Amino acid sequence: MENRLEVENLSHAYPERRALDDVSFSVPCGEIFGLLGPNGSGKTTLFKILSTLMPITSGTARILGYNLATEVRIIRDFLGVVFQHPGLDGKLTIVENLRHHGHLYGLSGKILHNRISELLECFGVSDRAKERVEILSGGLQRRVEIAKALLHSPRVLLLDEPTSGLDITARQQLNDYLGMLAQMENILVLMTTHLLEDAETCDQVGILDAGRLVALGEPDELKAEVGGDVILIESTDSDTLGAAITEQFGVSTVLTDNGLRLECERGHEFVRDVVAAFPDEIQSVRFGKPTLADVFIKLTGNPLV
Ligand code: ADP
Repeated sequence: MENRLEVENLSHAYPERRALDDVSFSVPCGEIFGLLGPNGSGKTTLFKILSTLMPITSGTARILGYNLATEVRIIRDFLGVVFQHPGLDGKLTIVENLRHHGHLYGLSGKILHNRISELLECFGVSDRAKERVEILSGGLQRRVEIAKALLHSPRVLLLDEPTSGLDITARQQLNDYLGMLAQMENILVLMTTHLLEDAETCDQVGILDAGRLVALGEPDELKAEVGGDVILIESTDSDTLGAAITEQFGVSTVLTDNGLRLECERGHEFVRDVVAAFPDEIQSVRFGKPTLADVFIKLTGNPLV
């Protein structure tokens, strides 16, 4: 069995529009792959295809060596899937939810009992095992949801926007748990997200824009490609200031929700010069190292929203 997921030249078109355009990437077991992109970039379409909810119409995908077009039944046994919609019964306790799900997979008795204990321990919810799911916080519910998807010991875990709706602490905790899981159980984790913080914690990131994979690599590698420094300038008239900066300094600017954004080498000197040149037009200047949002802007010319 091959220990990886491989997507080659995958495309998908709905009647009115193309949602995926020639997407290729490969992920080994034991790694977390983050599929990052703005709304409408094709994440859900790709997720649905990989989770076998939608058939492949163009290109190929192999999960653990099995062909998604012809070996769906085998692949399903190896997949754990966490959808965005909650799949737990709020009136049942954590343990009851997991037990029922285990029965659906033909697990019972001591094997099921031990697996449930192991997962509750792994996700830090052992002490809440007998509580009804509806009284748990969103973060805890999401962890139970993931534990449920792992009951049958899948080799590949697919998660659709697992951190959406969670506060920052719960999000960080969940990302930590996923990292631990991938390493300890050698599971391949693929998650979709529109949040940079999630993508930063992944081993590898694929950035989708309008159905195309515009970047692929380790977060640090991708950020290094942007290079230099990133400057954000706030002004009451960003359009005019942007044009003036371009004319005077020969650098292009992009208007984002956080202000005018530009990249340059030796940013500290540029900040000094630009403030001296436009003292009345500039309200604030921020200076920092590139993030994955900067990678997206550099590649597409648009902010990641
Ligand atoms: P994301 O998950 O990144 O928001 P989607 O995969 O949901 O992206 O959507 C990609 C594109 O395909 C969007 O332009 C969306 O409007 C379109 N799309 C998604 N689902 C359908 C559908 N069932 N029928 C037609 N168009 C769709």
